[in-house]
Amino acid sequence: MPVLDFKCNDCGNEFFEITTANEKIKCPKCKSEKVERVYKGKFYGKNNCGGDCSCCGGCH
Ligand SMILES: [Zn+2]
Repeated sequence: MPVLDFKCNDCGNEFFEITTANEKIKCPKCKSEKVERVYKGKFYGKNNCGGDCSCCGGCH
C-alpha cells in the first residue's frame, strides 16, 4: 500500500498515512479532515524501490 504525505490545513501538522483510495484521512493531531496531499519534491518513478522506502526515503 502507498504511504502518502499529508498536511493539515487547520493546525499545519505534517504527517504520513498508509492509505487506501477510499479512506478518509484525518489529522492525527487535531482530527480535522481538512488535509491535503503534499508532494515532497521527489521525482516519482526515479529510484523506485517498490514500496519499501527505507532505501530512498519515500519514492512511494
Ligand atoms: Zn491538524
